[in-house]
Amino acid sequence: MGAVGYSVYGFSFPKPDINLLCLIIATVFFSAASHLQIPRTKIHISFSDILIMVALLIYGGAVAVLLAMVEVVITSFSFRRKGINIKNSTILLNGAVAAIATLCTALIATQGFGSITDASKSANVTDLAVLVLLIGVSQFLFYSLITSLFISLKSEKNFWRTWYHYSLNALVIYILGSVIAGLMVRALYNFDTVFILVSIVVVGVIYFTYKRYIDDVRKTSAKAEQAERERAELAEQHVEELQKHIAQQEITEKALRDSREKFKHAAYHDSLTDLPNRNQFVERTGFLLERYKADKNKCFTILSLDLNRFKTINESLGHSSGDKLILEVAERLLNSVREDDMVARFSGDEFGIILKDISKKEEVISYIQIITRKFNKSFSIDGKSIFTSFAIGVAICDQNYENVDDLIRDSDIAMYEAKSCEKPFVLFDQTMHARAVNLLQTETDLRYALERNELVAFYQPIISLETMKVIGFEALMRWIHPKRGLVSPGEFIPVSEKTGLIIPMTIWMLRDSCRKLAKWKEMAPDNQNLMISVNLSGKHFAQDDLVAQVKQILSETGIAPMSLKLEITESAVMDNAEAAISILKQLKRVGVQLSIDDFGTGYSSLSYLHRFPIDTLKIDRSFVSSMEGGSENGEIVRTVVALAKALGLNVIAEGIETIHQLHQLRILGTEYGQGFLFSKPVPLDEAEAILEDKLRWRNIMPMSDIPVLKHKQPDTILQLGDV
Ligand code: C2E
Ligand code: MG
Ligand code: MG
Repeated sequence: MGAVGYSVYGFSFPKPDINLLCLIIATVFFSAASHLQIPRTKIHISFSDILIMVALLIYGGAVAVLLAMVEVVITSFSFRRKGINIKNSTILLNGAVAAIATLCTALIATQGFGSITDASKSANVTDLAVLVLLIGVSQFLFYSLITSLFISLKSEKNFWRTWYHYSLNALVIYILGSVIAGLMVRALYNFDTVFILVSIVVVGVIYFTYKRYIDDVRKTSAKAEQAERERAELAEQHVEELQKHIAQQEITEKALRDSREKFKHAAYHDSLTDLPNRNQFVERTGFLLERYKADKNKCFTILSLDLNRFKTINESLGHSSGDKLILEVAERLLNSVREDDMVARFSGDEFGIILKDISKKEEVISYIQIITRKFNKSFSIDGKSIFTSFAIGVAICDQNYENVDDLIRDSDIAMYEAKSCEKPFVLFDQTMHARAVNLLQTETDLRYALERNELVAFYQPIISLETMKVIGFEALMRWIHPKRGLVSPGEFIPVSEKTGLIIPMTIWMLRDSCRKLAKWKEMAPDNQNLMISVNLSGKHFAQDDLVAQVKQILSETGIAPMSLKLEITESAVMDNAEAAISILKQLKRVGVQLSIDDFGTGYSSLSYLHRFPIDTLKIDRSFVSSMEGGSENGEIVRTVVALAKALGLNVIAEGIETIHQLHQLRILGTEYGQGFLFSKPVPLDEAEAILEDKLRWRNIMPMSDIPVLKHKQPDTILQLGDV
């Protein structure tokens, strides 16, 4: 408004004429019709800009200012019509910029040349050139500076950089425009039709060439921009994918890290209790052993612990109760040691403890007592109260130990010792190691015993205490060791049970005994009622095919099932009474006789006893050997005989060694007997000799009228002499 006011007031208005009207119309027309944007700038230029300069040169500042305003406003509206969003305030602003810039140009030109109209009319070519250049440069400067000021204010960018970036390119256009305007004015004043025409053609050619050039530039730059945009989009897409990939990678890495941690944890911990496992125990023991080697004051002790009766608890209460018990046991163990010590679980019911900085026996024992005391209290598992205890083996670290394995092996040996002697704990000593090595050797040798026919059967006669006749034999196994000679079953049967060799050994024994019996039966008609007893191991009871094997052997050898008696120790039957009853029933259906061996040592309950489908009770040797008149054992034998009678069972007394025992057993009504008084277990030929001399024990019958026996067995003669 100021600029318009000043120009209206400050410059004189010309009289309107037809030329002015044409100029205004042409300006308005061109402003709406034709303009081009200078590439990479915000500046639009049109032919009407040249006409404004023409108006400035011919009619002076007032007309030029108004025309410039009108031209800008019309241009803005024509943009808006083409769909470009221009606010009214922006249109007003553009008008103001045009008015101010044109006014400033007019003022500068007036300063330099006085009246512009006069100067343009009368000036020589050089002055006119300076005038138009001044107008061009000044128009450019004011337009570009004001525009750049707004842009930089709005975008908060550096003003000079904005000006340089957006506007500098337009300088040439403004100068060119002003030169054209100068030429046009000079042509108008010196009216030269050819010159004007040529000028118009030249201007037209220049304009359209430039327009084409600008269009090309715009298209190229639009293409470049498009390509750039696509590239940017592609790059953005790529970055996004990369980010996704990185995120994925991070997730995978974390999962990997987690699973590595888990694996590491699992490799060193027990899954049920989360206690350290054997690996960690071994590693820690190794570390402490190295530390001890470096400094003998840094001692330690390791314990191997095995829970007593865990198998029974597991089988009777179920595995989930077993697991709960193990968890509570682990907790109690943890509560019995110090923080620096280690409690580890090896497997099932096996645990290990490391007691750090302890090596004195008394100290170790006091720790074991703490542990034992913790287990005096019962565990409450699924509403049931359970008592359990540990067999503990102790190995104290000393300078003899070179490696971890030896140390752990020795605490294990001590633990097995504790277990077999039913002691709460055992401290390792070297004799145990020798025994363990021996045992291992026996185990190895026994594996070859069967193949090398080193096993033989010995036979101990079973005598009817009523008639003193041999009614059969008990087959007892012997091992003729190539180096050690005769090895007793007490030594190798437990080993064979542990290794599972007892199964093929028993099968061999069964087959061999049945064959011998078949042979004896053929030997003499007297032998028809002869029978043979074979011992069965508790381990064999767990075999499903035991019954089938017995059947097979009976049919192979052709002996009557009644002639075979199977002896099972009372403790083996009681270990798993229900399963035993089922197998015994199946064996009974085959027709064999069944006997409970070592009766009186296995704590049979009466409720079970009457359910066992058995034929015979064999009273254990321990009761017979110490049987004295009125003694406790005598009473036990008496009770067992009475019980057997009540249950309809036969009784065999084992271990009869003296006439006195025999006499008492006869008085008690014991039907059968076996013992050194009659014969020790003997090899086959001696057993056959006994068979041929069936009446050899008739004369040891009490009150016998037969004179003293002419017997070759020294033991028997000696005892008879005693009597
Ligand atoms: P067992 O079945 O109770 O066999 C009786 C054991 O008592 C035999 O010992 C026998 O020699 C011994 N004996 C018999 N009468 C007397 C006596 O008057 N005084 C003394 N002191 N001992 C007497 P043996 O042969 O050493 O067998 C020991 C145990 O080994 C057997 O006890 C049996 O449980 C087991 N056994 C032997 N052979 C076999 C077998 O082939 N299979 C299985 N599973 N176990 C067997
Ligand atoms: Mg026996
Ligand atoms: Mg026995």
